[in-house]
Amino acid sequence: MISDAQAVVTDLLREKTLWPQMLLEYYLTVATGLRRCSLVTIPAEWPDAEDISRRIDDACIEDFKQLAHERDVIRKMKMIRSVKEKMRKISLAEIRSSLSYNSHISWINRLRLEVFEVEIRPTVRELFIYKEKDMKLRLENLMRKRLRFREEFLRHAGQSTPRSIAAYPEELYPEYLTEIGGLLAYPACCVKAYIEGREQEKPSAEQRAAAQISDIRALGLEPDVYAYFSKDFIPCSPTCVNASALGGNFHQGLATVDGRLSEFHLQCLKKNVDAVGSYVQRIEEHRAKISLRSRELGIEAVR
Ligand SMILES: [Zn+2]
Repeated sequence: MISDAQAVVTDLLREKTLWPQMLLEYYLTVATGLRRCSLVTIPAEWPDAEDISRRIDDACIEDFKQLAHERDVIRKMKMIRSVKEKMRKISLAEIRSSLSYNSHISWINRLRLEVFEVEIRPTVRELFIYKEKDMKLRLENLMRKRLRFREEFLRHAGQSTPRSIAAYPEELYPEYLTEIGGLLAYPACCVKAYIEGREQEKPSAEQRAAAQISDIRALGLEPDVYAYFSKDFIPCSPTCVNASALGGNFHQGLATVDGRLSEFHLQCLKKNVDAVGSYVQRIEEHRAKISLRSRELGIEAVR
């Protein structure tokens, strides 16, 4: 159990530099043993994500311009490598000096958690939050496997590979998704449905899940909010009994820590349903924004 739970919950609900929902679903659930591991993508999931990204772009703007004008393929490839390295360094410095990172570290220490950090792209990192020491070895092994899958994918990838797949190519490998789903406590039925959504010519898990919510609502019914137990999770159906049982367990566990979390957690669950329902639209808006900014800066090649 966590010590001084009442003060922890008071500060969690008042937190301004990280989203309280994130602290609840990714940090407190691990600290209380409700799940063994959670995953945060940074800076995307931080309140100051846009500021951090803008500062990285601004610091590299001259390099981007030079890159956009370079016509020699060999020189261009070399420049892309060096710009990526510069973006990596600046991104790391921006992340480490951000208010969000500061809060993240103070919550990790306060809740006695551990973090395993992985770079996904020069400006995108993943933080795996866990408590039990043996998790580190499992994560190390899985990340080695992930790298192998990425390398294998790159050997066969063509110019026409959609950016949505090229960003997370390991998701084309069921072995990776099954293992990471297990670590994050996702029910096997939901992981299976997610994997099917990564197969070619099938609707993605995100598209399928959004359609399921509008279908169930068209019947005058509502999704089971407990099935949407974490912001990063997509259930196989809006009434998945396994996901709902897990969400119910989270709810009960959090309410036991402090009664105030009962109401707050319900609000989070409802937000998660809305987020899954509007996922496709939000992703499209986000991509359009990124692509517009990339075009403005002339950096489509380095993103
Ligand atoms: Zn399921």
